Amino acid sequence: MKIFCIGRNYTEHAKELNNPVPSEPLIFMKPPTALLLNNRAFYHPDYSQNIHYEGEIVLRVCKNGRAVQPEFASRYYDAVAFGIDFTARDLQDRLKAKGQPWEIAKGFDRSAPLSTFMPLAELKDPKNIEFQLKKNGEIVQHGHTADMIFDFDRLICEISRYFTLHKGDYIFTGTPAGVGPVAIGDVLEGYVEETPMLRCWIK
Ligand code: MG
Repeated sequence: MKIFCIGRNYTEHAKELNNPVPSEPLIFMKPPTALLLNNRAFYHPDYSQNIHYEGEIVLRVCKNGRAVQPEFASRYYDAVAFGIDFTARDLQDRLKAKGQPWEIAKGFDRSAPLSTFMPLAELKDPKNIEFQLKKNGEIVQHGHTADMIFDFDRLICEISRYFTLHKGDYIFTGTPAGVGPVAIGDVLEGYVEETPMLRCWIK
């Protein structure tokens, strides 16, 4: 099982971190040990003083494929979940400044809380999914997937140019504006449309 992630897929988020808006998807991966399931708590690691939440819609791949063509892309995913792409922003900033890979800032243990999946067929508009992240009860991120720079189909095509997709792989599709730090004691809650999907207590 592979976990793909997309960076800077929402214009307003790219801008808030002073990053350029990309002309092709920025793809990175997290290892399976990053997954944090069943609403388990996130234990704040000691190697970062600035862990950020990034609330994201996560796609589930439902079919094996490589070099998928655009007209077939929508057959390769069937469900969405709410996920958090926890990012050690201080480590990431240091690595970026040196032009080094992001792995330790993005792929550390439990950096990918993930809810259960909801079939796309149950959503009122699978091409424009509304999602929200609340921190301690207040909305901090509010996104619509129609605002993605690269839509689900394009992500399937681009990722599968380089990596064979397997049934059961996940794709974190990027975060909208509003990212910010977490502190011990915070509670994060993710919603897809009106449905509470994920709860993550920072310990
Ligand atoms: Mg992200």
